Amino acid sequence: MLNKVASDPRQRIPSVEKVLQLDGAKELLELYGQTQVTFAIRRVLNQLRTELSEDKLHLLSLENIVSECQKWLKVQQTSSLKGVLNLTGTVLHTNLGRAVIAPKARDAALKVMSSPVNIEYDTVQGERGERDDHVEHLICQLTGAQAATFVNNNAAAVLLALNTFAIGKQVVVSRGELVEIGGSFRIPDIIARAGCELFEVGTTNRTHKKDFDLAINPSTAALLKVHTSNYSIEGFTAEVSLHAMAQIANSHHVPFIADLGSGTLINLEEFGLSHELTVRETIEAGADLVTFSGDKLLGGPQCGIIAGKKEYIQRIKSNPLKRALRFDKIILSILESTLRLYQHPEKLAHELPTLRYLLRSQDEIEQLALRIFPTLQDLLKKDFNVSVASCHSQVGSGSLPVDRLPSMGFQITPIHPQFSATKLAAMFRNLPVPMIGRLHKSDLWLDLRCLENENDFLEQLQHLKMPL
Ligand SMILES: *Cc1c(COP(=O)(O)O)cnc(C)c1O
Repeated sequence: MLNKVASDPRQRIPSVEKVLQLDGAKELLELYGQTQVTFAIRRVLNQLRTELSEDKLHLLSLENIVSECQKWLKVQQTSSLKGVLNLTGTVLHTNLGRAVIAPKARDAALKVMSSPVNIEYDTVQGERGERDDHVEHLICQLTGAQAATFVNNNAAAVLLALNTFAIGKQVVVSRGELVEIGGSFRIPDIIARAGCELFEVGTTNRTHKKDFDLAINPSTAALLKVHTSNYSIEGFTAEVSLHAMAQIANSHHVPFIADLGSGTLINLEEFGLSHELTVRETIEAGADLVTFSGDKLLGGPQCGIIAGKKEYIQRIKSNPLKRALRFDKIILSILESTLRLYQHPEKLAHELPTLRYLLRSQDEIEQLALRIFPTLQDLLKKDFNVSVASCHSQVGSGSLPVDRLPSMGFQITPIHPQFSATKLAAMFRNLPVPMIGRLHKSDLWLDLRCLENENDFLEQLQHLKMPL
Protein backbone atom coordinates (compact mmCIF):
# COMPACT_ATOMS: atom_id res chain seq x y z
CA MET A 1 0.00 0.00 0.00
CA LEU A 2 1.32 3.44 -0.96
CA ASN A 3 1.79 5.93 1.78
CA LYS A 4 -0.05 9.03 0.53
CA VAL A 5 1.22 11.35 3.21
CA ALA A 6 4.51 12.87 2.05
CA SER A 7 7.02 11.92 4.71
CA ASP A 8 9.03 14.72 6.31
CA PRO A 9 12.43 14.66 4.52
CA ARG A 10 14.08 15.62 7.78
CA GLN A 11 13.48 12.10 9.02
CA ARG A 12 16.06 11.00 6.48
CA ILE A 13 18.85 13.10 7.97
CA PRO A 14 21.53 10.62 9.09
CA SER A 15 22.76 10.33 12.63
CA VAL A 16 26.12 11.79 13.73
CA GLU A 17 27.35 8.22 14.33
CA LYS A 18 26.50 7.19 10.80
CA VAL A 19 28.43 10.12 9.30
CA LEU A 20 31.38 9.37 11.56
CA GLN A 21 31.61 5.86 10.07
CA LEU A 22 32.10 7.14 6.52
CA ASP A 23 35.53 6.90 4.90
CA GLY A 24 35.56 10.63 4.22
CA ALA A 25 34.87 11.34 7.89
CA LYS A 26 37.72 9.07 8.93
CA GLU A 27 40.11 11.25 6.94
CA LEU A 28 38.76 14.30 8.73
CA LEU A 29 39.17 12.57 12.10
CA GLU A 30 42.81 11.98 11.32
CA LEU A 31 43.32 15.66 10.46
CA TYR A 32 41.17 17.46 13.01
CA GLY A 33 40.37 14.99 15.80
CA GLN A 34 37.16 13.62 17.30
CA THR A 35 35.98 16.74 19.13
CA GLN A 36 36.13 19.09 16.19
CA VAL A 37 34.78 16.63 13.64
CA THR A 38 31.79 15.68 15.80
CA PHE A 39 31.11 19.36 16.36
CA ALA A 40 31.30 20.04 12.62
CA ILE A 41 28.94 17.16 11.78
CA ARG A 42 26.38 18.33 14.36
CA ARG A 43 26.56 21.78 12.90
CA VAL A 44 26.04 20.63 9.33
CA LEU A 45 23.18 18.30 10.34
CA ASN A 46 21.49 21.07 12.33
CA GLN A 47 21.77 23.34 9.34
CA LEU A 48 20.12 20.65 7.22
CA ARG A 49 17.27 20.44 9.69
CA THR A 50 16.47 24.10 9.13
CA GLU A 51 17.10 24.23 5.37
CA LEU A 52 15.85 20.93 4.04
CA SER A 53 12.83 20.86 1.76
CA GLU A 54 11.54 18.60 -1.03
CA ASP A 55 13.47 20.49 -3.69
CA LYS A 56 16.75 20.34 -1.77
CA LEU A 57 16.95 16.60 -1.20
CA HIS A 58 20.37 16.48 -2.86
CA LEU A 59 21.75 18.11 0.29
CA LEU A 60 21.05 14.84 2.07
CA SER A 61 23.71 12.89 0.22
CA LEU A 62 26.42 11.61 2.51
CA GLU A 63 29.13 12.98 0.22
CA ASN A 64 27.61 16.43 0.49
CA ILE A 65 27.45 16.24 4.28
CA VAL A 66 31.09 15.22 4.54
CA SER A 67 32.21 17.87 2.11
CA GLU A 68 30.28 20.55 4.02
CA CYS A 69 32.02 19.42 7.21
CA GLN A 70 35.36 19.57 5.49
CA LYS A 71 34.73 23.10 4.21
CA TRP A 72 33.67 24.30 7.61
CA LEU A 73 36.63 22.70 9.40
CA LYS A 74 39.02 24.24 6.92
CA VAL A 75 37.65 27.74 7.48
CA GLN A 76 37.80 27.19 11.25
CA GLN A 77 41.45 26.21 11.00
CA THR A 78 42.45 29.32 9.09
CA SER A 79 43.92 31.94 11.34
CA SER A 80 42.33 35.36 10.99
CA LEU A 81 45.73 36.90 11.69
CA LYS A 82 47.87 36.70 8.58
CA GLY A 83 50.69 38.31 6.69
CA VAL A 84 49.66 41.03 4.23
CA LEU A 85 51.44 43.14 1.64
CA ASN A 86 51.52 46.73 2.82
CA LEU A 87 51.02 48.77 -0.36
CA THR A 88 49.38 51.68 1.46
CA GLY A 89 52.42 53.94 1.29
CA THR A 90 52.42 54.25 5.08
CA VAL A 91 55.57 52.57 6.34
CA LEU A 92 54.62 52.35 10.02
CA HIS A 93 50.96 51.48 9.64
CA THR A 94 49.37 50.95 13.06
CA ASN A 95 46.56 48.80 11.63
CA LEU A 96 49.14 46.65 9.86
CA GLY A 97 51.26 46.06 12.94
CA ARG A 98 53.76 48.92 12.55
CA ALA A 99 57.44 47.94 12.36
CA VAL A 100 58.50 44.73 10.64
CA ILE A 101 60.97 42.94 12.88
CA ALA A 102 64.58 42.51 11.71
CA PRO A 103 65.52 38.90 10.85
CA LYS A 104 68.23 38.83 13.53
CA ALA A 105 65.74 39.90 16.17
CA ARG A 106 63.20 37.36 14.98
CA ASP A 107 65.77 34.56 15.23
CA ALA A 108 66.76 35.62 18.73
CA ALA A 109 63.11 35.54 19.80
CA LEU A 110 62.67 32.02 18.43
CA LYS A 111 65.43 30.74 20.71
CA VAL A 112 63.98 32.46 23.75
CA MET A 113 60.51 31.09 23.06
CA SER A 114 61.44 27.45 23.03
CA SER A 115 63.44 27.12 26.22
CA PRO A 116 63.44 28.43 29.79
CA VAL A 117 65.36 31.72 30.01
CA ASN A 118 67.08 33.69 32.75
CA ILE A 119 64.71 36.62 32.31
CA GLU A 120 64.70 37.38 36.04
CA TYR A 121 67.57 35.24 37.18
CA ASP A 122 71.15 36.29 37.76
CA THR A 123 73.17 33.30 36.60
CA VAL A 124 76.40 34.69 38.11
CA GLN A 125 75.10 35.12 41.64
CA GLY A 126 72.48 32.40 41.44
CA GLU A 127 69.78 34.74 42.67
CA ARG A 128 66.78 36.72 41.48
CA GLY A 129 67.55 39.21 38.69
CA GLU A 130 65.72 42.11 37.05
CA ARG A 131 64.06 41.72 33.67
CA ASP A 132 64.79 45.32 32.69
CA ASP A 133 68.53 44.75 33.20
CA HIS A 134 68.87 42.90 29.90
CA VAL A 135 68.10 46.05 27.90
CA GLU A 136 68.46 48.98 30.28
CA HIS A 137 72.22 49.33 29.70
CA LEU A 138 71.65 49.37 25.91
CA ILE A 139 69.09 52.18 26.14
CA CYS A 140 71.42 54.14 28.45
CA GLN A 141 74.28 53.70 26.01
CA LEU A 142 72.18 54.76 23.01
CA THR A 143 70.43 57.74 24.64
CA GLY A 144 72.72 59.00 27.37
CA ALA A 145 70.00 58.32 29.96
CA GLN A 146 71.01 57.32 33.50
CA ALA A 147 68.39 54.59 33.68
CA ALA A 148 65.43 53.11 31.84
CA THR A 149 62.42 50.88 32.32
CA PHE A 150 60.09 49.04 29.95
CA VAL A 151 56.39 48.31 29.56
CA ASN A 152 53.90 47.01 27.01
CA ASN A 153 53.56 50.08 24.83
CA ASN A 154 54.09 53.82 24.96
CA ALA A 155 50.55 54.52 26.14
CA ALA A 156 51.37 52.36 29.17
CA ALA A 157 54.66 54.22 29.60
CA VAL A 158 52.88 57.59 29.79
CA LEU A 159 50.21 56.17 32.10
CA LEU A 160 52.78 54.65 34.43
CA ALA A 161 54.98 57.74 34.57
CA LEU A 162 52.05 60.04 35.34
CA ASN A 163 50.57 57.66 37.88
CA THR A 164 53.88 57.35 39.69
CA PHE A 165 54.41 61.06 40.22
CA ALA A 166 51.06 62.77 40.00
CA ILE A 167 48.29 60.53 41.33
CA GLY A 168 45.76 62.81 43.02
CA LYS A 169 47.72 65.83 41.80
CA GLN A 170 48.03 68.07 38.79
CA VAL A 171 49.87 67.57 35.49
CA VAL A 172 50.51 70.75 33.52
CA VAL A 173 50.26 70.48 29.70
CA SER A 174 50.06 73.02 26.89
CA ARG A 175 46.66 73.19 25.17
CA GLY A 176 48.41 72.78 21.83
CA GLU A 177 49.57 69.30 22.86
CA LEU A 178 46.37 67.63 24.06
CA VAL A 179 46.58 65.14 21.21
CA GLU A 180 44.55 62.17 20.12
CA ILE A 181 46.48 59.37 18.46
CA GLY A 182 44.79 56.61 16.50
CA GLY A 183 41.40 57.21 18.05
CA SER A 184 41.91 55.53 21.38
CA PHE A 185 44.90 57.31 22.88
CA ARG A 186 44.00 60.76 24.10
CA ILE A 187 46.26 62.66 26.42
CA PRO A 188 43.42 64.09 28.58
CA ASP A 189 41.96 60.58 29.03
CA ILE A 190 45.30 59.01 29.91
CA ILE A 191 45.94 61.73 32.47
CA ALA A 192 42.52 61.10 34.02
CA ARG A 193 43.00 57.31 34.03
CA ALA A 194 46.40 57.73 35.65
CA GLY A 195 44.48 59.31 38.53
CA CYS A 196 45.78 62.79 37.81
CA GLU A 197 44.19 66.12 37.16
CA LEU A 198 44.93 67.87 33.87
CA PHE A 199 45.97 71.52 34.19
CA GLU A 200 45.84 73.05 30.70
CA VAL A 201 47.89 76.12 29.92
CA GLY A 202 48.18 78.50 26.97
CA THR A 203 46.09 78.28 23.83
CA THR A 204 45.88 75.92 20.87
CA ASN A 205 48.46 77.80 18.83
CA ARG A 206 50.52 79.67 21.44
CA THR A 207 51.81 78.76 24.86
CA HIS A 208 54.40 80.88 26.72
CA LYS A 209 56.79 80.30 29.57
CA LYS A 210 54.74 82.62 31.79
CA ASP A 211 51.71 80.35 31.30
CA PHE A 212 53.64 77.53 32.95
CA ASP A 213 55.04 79.82 35.65
CA LEU A 214 51.53 80.95 36.57
CA ALA A 215 50.18 77.40 36.57
CA ILE A 216 52.55 76.07 39.18
CA ASN A 217 50.87 75.62 42.57
CA PRO A 218 51.29 73.29 45.57
CA SER A 219 49.26 70.64 43.77
CA THR A 220 51.53 70.56 40.69
CA ALA A 221 53.24 67.18 40.44
CA ALA A 222 54.60 67.03 36.87
CA LEU A 223 55.09 68.98 33.67
CA LEU A 224 54.29 67.09 30.51
CA LYS A 225 55.33 67.84 26.94
CA VAL A 226 53.70 65.78 24.21
CA HIS A 227 55.02 65.35 20.69
CA THR A 228 52.27 66.55 18.33
CA SER A 229 52.65 63.31 16.45
CA ASN A 230 50.02 63.42 13.77
CA TYR A 231 49.62 67.11 13.03
CA SER A 232 51.59 70.32 12.98
CA ILE A 233 50.54 73.73 14.14
CA GLU A 234 51.69 76.34 11.68
CA GLY A 235 51.43 80.09 11.33
CA PHE A 236 51.20 82.33 14.40
CA THR A 237 52.56 79.86 16.94
CA ALA A 238 54.68 79.73 20.05
CA GLU A 239 55.75 76.82 22.18
CA VAL A 240 57.87 76.66 25.28
CA SER A 241 61.26 75.06 24.71
CA LEU A 242 62.26 71.81 26.40
CA HIS A 243 65.01 73.75 28.13
CA ALA A 244 62.63 76.34 29.60
CA MET A 245 60.17 73.69 30.74
CA ALA A 246 63.00 71.75 32.36
CA GLN A 247 64.04 74.84 34.29
CA ILE A 248 60.55 75.47 35.58
CA ALA A 249 60.09 71.82 36.61
CA ASN A 250 63.52 71.74 38.25
CA SER A 251 62.99 74.86 40.29
CA HIS A 252 59.78 73.35 41.68
CA HIS A 253 61.25 69.89 42.21
CA VAL A 254 58.74 68.10 40.01
CA PRO A 255 59.64 65.84 37.09
CA PHE A 256 59.51 67.09 33.52
CA ILE A 257 58.17 64.29 31.34
CA ALA A 258 58.50 64.42 27.55
CA ASP A 259 56.30 61.99 25.60
CA LEU A 260 58.11 61.69 22.27
CA GLY A 261 55.67 59.17 20.84
CA SER A 262 57.80 57.69 18.12
CA GLY A 263 61.16 58.71 19.44
CA THR A 264 64.25 57.94 17.44
CA LEU A 265 67.68 56.86 18.58
CA ILE A 266 69.52 58.20 15.55
CA ASN A 267 69.87 61.48 13.75
CA LEU A 268 67.65 60.85 10.75
CA GLU A 269 69.23 63.80 8.93
CA GLU A 270 72.40 61.77 8.55
CA PHE A 271 70.31 59.35 6.52
CA GLY A 272 68.78 62.07 4.36
CA LEU A 273 65.44 62.30 6.18
CA SER A 274 64.06 65.26 8.10
CA HIS A 275 65.27 65.90 11.59
CA GLU A 276 63.22 64.30 14.33
CA LEU A 277 64.23 65.19 17.86
CA THR A 278 66.15 62.20 19.22
CA VAL A 279 65.77 60.72 22.68
CA ARG A 280 69.33 61.79 23.48
CA GLU A 281 68.66 65.40 22.42
CA THR A 282 65.51 65.48 24.53
CA ILE A 283 67.40 64.28 27.58
CA GLU A 284 70.23 66.71 26.93
CA ALA A 285 67.70 69.55 26.68
CA GLY A 286 66.65 68.75 30.23
CA ALA A 287 63.77 66.25 30.16
CA ASP A 288 63.83 64.17 33.35
CA LEU A 289 61.93 61.33 31.71
CA VAL A 290 61.33 60.52 28.06
CA THR A 291 58.68 58.06 26.91
CA PHE A 292 58.64 56.46 23.45
CA SER A 293 57.44 53.45 21.46
CA GLY A 294 59.42 50.37 20.50
CA ASP A 295 57.57 49.74 17.25
CA LYS A 296 57.57 53.16 15.62
CA LEU A 297 60.78 54.70 14.23
CA LEU A 298 62.87 52.48 16.48
CA GLY A 299 61.76 49.58 14.28
CA GLY A 300 61.38 47.01 17.06
CA PRO A 301 58.58 45.21 18.88
CA GLN A 302 55.53 46.79 20.48
CA CYS A 303 56.72 48.11 23.82
CA GLY A 304 57.05 51.35 25.71
CA ILE A 305 60.36 52.72 26.93
CA ILE A 306 60.88 55.22 29.71
CA ALA A 307 64.39 56.64 29.88
CA GLY A 308 65.75 59.30 32.19
CA LYS A 309 67.01 60.20 35.67
CA LYS A 310 67.87 57.31 37.91
CA GLU A 311 65.90 58.45 40.96
CA TYR A 312 62.74 58.90 38.91
CA ILE A 313 63.13 55.58 37.05
CA GLN A 314 63.64 53.89 40.43
CA ARG A 315 60.33 55.25 41.66
CA ILE A 316 58.55 54.10 38.50
CA LYS A 317 59.98 50.62 38.91
CA SER A 318 58.53 50.36 42.39
CA ASN A 319 55.03 51.42 41.33
CA PRO A 320 52.82 48.30 41.61
CA LEU A 321 51.31 49.16 38.21
CA LYS A 322 54.71 48.41 36.64
CA ARG A 323 54.12 44.73 37.35
CA ALA A 324 50.79 44.88 35.55
CA LEU A 325 52.31 46.59 32.53
CA ARG A 326 55.62 44.76 32.20
CA PHE A 327 56.75 43.26 28.89
CA ASP A 328 57.39 39.58 28.25
CA LYS A 329 60.48 37.54 27.37
CA ILE A 330 59.72 37.41 23.65
CA ILE A 331 59.39 41.17 23.33
CA LEU A 332 62.41 41.65 25.56
CA SER A 333 64.50 39.47 23.31
CA ILE A 334 63.33 41.23 20.12
CA LEU A 335 63.99 44.62 21.68
CA GLU A 336 67.45 43.59 22.82
CA SER A 337 68.54 42.35 19.42
CA THR A 338 67.00 45.35 17.67
CA LEU A 339 68.91 47.72 19.98
CA ARG A 340 72.12 45.81 19.26
CA LEU A 341 71.68 46.66 15.58
CA TYR A 342 71.95 50.31 16.60
CA GLN A 343 75.41 49.61 18.01
CA HIS A 344 76.53 49.19 14.43
CA PRO A 345 75.01 52.26 12.72
CA GLU A 346 76.91 51.65 9.48
CA LYS A 347 74.85 48.53 8.90
CA LEU A 348 71.61 49.76 10.42
CA ALA A 349 70.02 50.94 7.17
CA HIS A 350 70.60 47.50 5.76
CA GLU A 351 69.51 45.40 8.74
CA LEU A 352 66.52 47.30 10.10
CA PRO A 353 63.51 46.90 7.79
CA THR A 354 61.82 50.15 8.91
CA LEU A 355 64.86 52.25 8.08
CA ARG A 356 65.49 50.33 4.88
CA TYR A 357 61.95 51.07 3.68
CA LEU A 358 62.22 54.73 4.61
CA LEU A 359 65.48 55.12 2.74
CA ARG A 360 64.55 53.38 -0.49
CA SER A 361 65.06 55.66 -3.47
CA GLN A 362 62.31 56.44 -5.91
CA ASP A 363 64.53 54.99 -8.67
CA GLU A 364 64.84 51.66 -6.95
CA ILE A 365 61.09 51.48 -6.33
CA GLU A 366 60.45 52.41 -9.95
CA GLN A 367 62.67 49.55 -11.21
CA LEU A 368 60.63 47.17 -9.10
CA ALA A 369 57.37 48.63 -10.43
CA LEU A 370 58.53 48.23 -14.02
CA ARG A 371 59.34 44.56 -13.44
CA ILE A 372 55.80 43.90 -12.18
CA PHE A 373 53.98 46.20 -14.59
CA PRO A 374 53.58 43.94 -17.69
CA THR A 375 51.94 41.13 -15.69
CA LEU A 376 49.62 43.47 -13.80
CA GLN A 377 48.62 45.39 -16.89
CA ASP A 378 47.97 42.23 -18.83
CA LEU A 379 45.68 40.98 -16.10
CA LEU A 380 43.67 44.17 -15.64
CA LYS A 381 43.77 45.85 -19.05
CA LYS A 382 40.25 44.87 -20.07
CA ASP A 383 38.67 46.85 -17.26
CA PHE A 384 41.35 49.19 -15.92
CA ASN A 385 44.06 51.57 -17.05
CA VAL A 386 47.23 50.73 -15.17
CA SER A 387 50.21 53.03 -15.02
CA VAL A 388 53.46 53.24 -13.12
CA ALA A 389 53.14 56.59 -11.39
CA SER A 390 55.02 58.61 -8.84
CA CYS A 391 53.35 59.05 -5.47
CA HIS A 392 54.25 59.98 -1.93
CA SER A 393 54.68 57.63 0.99
CA GLN A 394 54.54 58.70 4.58
CA VAL A 395 56.31 57.46 7.68
CA GLY A 396 53.15 56.88 9.69
CA SER A 397 52.41 56.30 13.37
CA GLY A 398 52.87 59.96 14.09
CA SER A 399 56.50 60.06 13.03
CA LEU A 400 57.60 63.02 10.92
CA PRO A 401 53.91 63.85 10.34
CA VAL A 402 54.41 66.35 7.55
CA ASP A 403 57.12 64.53 5.65
CA ARG A 404 56.35 62.95 2.30
CA LEU A 405 58.73 60.47 0.72
CA PRO A 406 58.81 60.41 -3.10
CA SER A 407 57.81 56.91 -4.09
CA MET A 408 56.50 54.84 -7.01
CA GLY A 409 53.51 52.63 -7.45
CA PHE A 410 50.62 51.63 -9.64
CA GLN A 411 47.73 53.94 -10.34
CA ILE A 412 44.76 51.83 -11.37
CA THR A 413 41.82 53.63 -12.97
CA PRO A 414 38.56 51.91 -13.91
CA ILE A 415 37.64 52.16 -17.61
CA HIS A 416 33.96 51.30 -17.23
CA PRO A 417 31.97 52.76 -14.39
CA GLN A 418 30.63 49.34 -13.41
CA PHE A 419 34.10 48.13 -12.34
CA SER A 420 34.96 50.40 -9.51
CA ALA A 421 38.38 50.72 -7.86
CA THR A 422 36.60 49.94 -4.59
CA LYS A 423 35.61 46.56 -5.95
CA LEU A 424 39.13 45.86 -7.20
CA ALA A 425 40.57 46.91 -3.83
CA ALA A 426 38.30 44.36 -2.16
CA MET A 427 39.53 41.64 -4.54
CA PHE A 428 43.13 42.47 -3.67
CA ARG A 429 42.25 42.33 0.01
CA ASN A 430 40.75 38.86 -0.42
CA LEU A 431 43.86 37.26 -1.87
CA PRO A 432 45.57 34.52 0.19
CA VAL A 433 48.14 37.15 1.18
CA PRO A 434 45.94 40.26 1.18
CA MET A 435 47.35 43.18 -0.77
CA ILE A 436 46.35 46.40 0.94
CA GLY A 437 46.37 49.49 -1.24
CA ARG A 438 44.95 52.97 -0.94
CA LEU A 439 41.85 54.40 -2.60
CA HIS A 440 42.19 57.95 -3.80
CA LYS A 441 39.36 59.63 -5.69
CA SER A 442 38.22 56.95 -8.13
CA ASP A 443 41.60 55.20 -8.36
CA LEU A 444 43.32 52.41 -6.53
CA TRP A 445 46.96 53.12 -5.69
CA LEU A 446 49.51 50.46 -4.82
CA ASP A 447 52.65 52.09 -3.39
CA LEU A 448 55.62 49.72 -3.67
CA ARG A 449 57.88 51.29 -1.03
CA CYS A 450 57.41 48.44 1.45
CA LEU A 451 57.54 45.65 -1.13
CA GLU A 452 61.01 44.18 -1.43
CA ASN A 453 60.47 41.12 -3.56
CA GLU A 454 58.40 41.32 -6.73
CA ASN A 455 57.61 37.61 -6.48
CA ASP A 456 55.52 38.25 -3.36
CA PHE A 457 53.35 40.49 -5.55
CA LEU A 458 53.38 38.37 -8.72
CA GLU A 459 52.51 35.20 -6.83
CA GLN A 460 49.30 36.77 -5.49
CA LEU A 461 48.27 37.95 -8.95
CA GLN A 462 47.95 34.30 -9.97
CA HIS A 463 45.04 34.01 -7.54
CA LEU A 464 43.21 37.01 -8.94
CA LYS A 465 40.16 35.95 -10.93
CA MET A 466 40.00 38.14 -14.02
CA PRO A 467 38.11 39.55 -15.80
CA LEU A 468 35.83 40.70 -13.01
C1 LIG B 1 52.08 56.77 19.29
C2 LIG B 1 52.07 57.67 20.43
C3 LIG B 1 51.68 57.23 21.70
C4 LIG B 1 51.18 55.85 21.94
O1 LIG B 1 52.19 54.91 21.75
P1 LIG B 1 51.81 53.36 21.61
O2 LIG B 1 53.15 52.70 21.48
O3 LIG B 1 50.95 53.24 20.43
O4 LIG B 1 51.11 52.97 22.86
C5 LIG B 1 51.72 58.12 22.73
N1 LIG B 1 52.12 59.38 22.55
C6 LIG B 1 52.49 59.86 21.35
C7 LIG B 1 52.89 61.29 21.23
C8 LIG B 1 52.49 59.01 20.25
O5 LIG B 1 52.84 59.47 19.04
